[in-house]
Formats: sequence, C-alpha cells, structure tokens
Amino acid sequence: MPLHRTNDLSLTQRLRHAIRHAGALLGHALLPQTCVLCSLPSGDKPVCGACTKDLPRLTGQQCPRCALPLQGNANGIQITCPDCAHHLPAFDKASAVWSYGFPVDTLIQDFKYGHHLYLAGFFGQHLARTLIKQWGTARGNAQPDLIVPMPLHPNRLKDRGFNQAAEIARQAAKHLGLPWCSDALIRLYDTAPQAGLRREERWANLRGAFSCPKPLSGARILLVDDVLTTGASLSACAQVLRHAGATRIDVAVLARTPEPGHAK
Ligand SMILES: [Zn+2]
Ligand SMILES: [Zn+2]
Repeated sequence: MPLHRTNDLSLTQRLRHAIRHAGALLGHALLPQTCVLCSLPSGDKPVCGACTKDLPRLTGQQCPRCALPLQGNANGIQITCPDCAHHLPAFDKASAVWSYGFPVDTLIQDFKYGHHLYLAGFFGQHLARTLIKQWGTARGNAQPDLIVPMPLHPNRLKDRGFNQAAEIARQAAKHLGLPWCSDALIRLYDTAPQAGLRREERWANLRGAFSCPKPLSGARILLVDDVLTTGASLSACAQVLRHAGATRIDVAVLARTPEPGHAK
C-alpha cells in the first residue's frame, strides 16, 4: 500500500485539514447534485454532461512528446515543436485531457486552492478515459506498470493539506486497475515558485530538487500532474525516475497550456 506523506503534519494541522475536507465533502453530499459550472442537475457527477462536453479539448495536431498544439502542417510537413526544440523533455510522451483554458483552469484552481476535493473523482475518471482511448487495442503493451504522482514538498503539503497530483493519480489508478505509489518520488527542495521565472531559470531551479528512493528497474512509469506548462518539473522527475531504472516514463496531466512555454 502506498504510504501517504502526511505523517509530517502536526496533530493540529491534521485536525484543521480533516475538518476542512469533511466540511467540503459533507456540503457537497448534502446539497442536491448540481453542476458546479451551470447549476443544472448533474446526476452523480460534479459537472453535468453538457458542460463536460464543452470543456476545451486539445484539437488538431499536437507534439507527440509534450502535447503542445502545433499550427499549420497543411502539406503534411513535420512541424518542429518550439518547446521541445528549446529543451527536449526527459519523459517519452505526454498526454492531456483538456486544454488549460476556461473553465478547466477554474476547476483545477478550485480543486487545488479551494479544497474542492470532490472533483478528484471526476478528474481521475477523465484522465483514465483519455489514456484507455490512446492505448486502444495495444493496451497491454502501452500501459504502465506503476502510476506515480508529482510530489509536493512537505512544507507545501502542510499548507495545502493534500497533494492534488496524488489525488488525481489515486482516482485514475482506481479506474485503470493499475497500482500507484505516492512515495516513489520525493521533493527535496521547496523550490521557488516556477511562475515568473524565465524558462532557463525554471530548469536550473529544479536541478537536484527530486529524489527516487525506490528501485524501479525495468519499470514503465506514468507520471501524473494537474497541469503541464513548460514541462520543466515533470522532466526533472522523469530524469530521476530513469536514474532509478525506469525504462519508459510517460506523463499524463489534466490540462496542457496551449501556448509554448519556452518564451515565458
Ligand atoms: Zn453544467
Ligand atoms: Zn513538444
């Protein structure tokens, strides 16, 4: 069984988070199920069918490596991905359920910062569906051996009370019938927030930030996170996983930012 890294929290902090989580879950259970986006009845889901269908998808051609939407290619010419041309990520392939635009951005922010944990099931289910569709008939060959969430530093875990990537990974693993492990990766440094840093600074900022205490010889890993922007954090994790013996590292996220991150 995966060991959840909540042991570092003090009793008061754990109680405070438990009350907050229980309050959010109870409130959601007691209220009639209405869609969080349009307030119409939504059955047993937090988002109704019509709103789910309208969530922004990644359309057209995407970079096979980092899932960035690519423009043009009317004549079948291979388009170079600006992000991968700038810095090829250490993971093999990224998949995203949605494009990081409204209202997916709001849903993810509410989930992360507003303690809307009831969205985890919805997110995990859609991540699993996207992967199953991609794996298709080659499922046996394409599916990973282990699902690993992007780790959160203990300091951030204390602030937030949960790791959003672990909650998504847990739910996706349930739907996929695959094992997951919340402590295969450890975040060693509470690195400066990535937002606001130039791309090169982001990559430098993450050097040595992660560690993998488990032997993963020959394992195919699916690394899960909420959003892929530049891929710098996910790439740093993939490097560490490969060092631990993993032979393939795929990335699965809820949303991919549709704009190249290399210039930011
Ligand atoms: Zn709706
Ligand atoms: Zn790319």
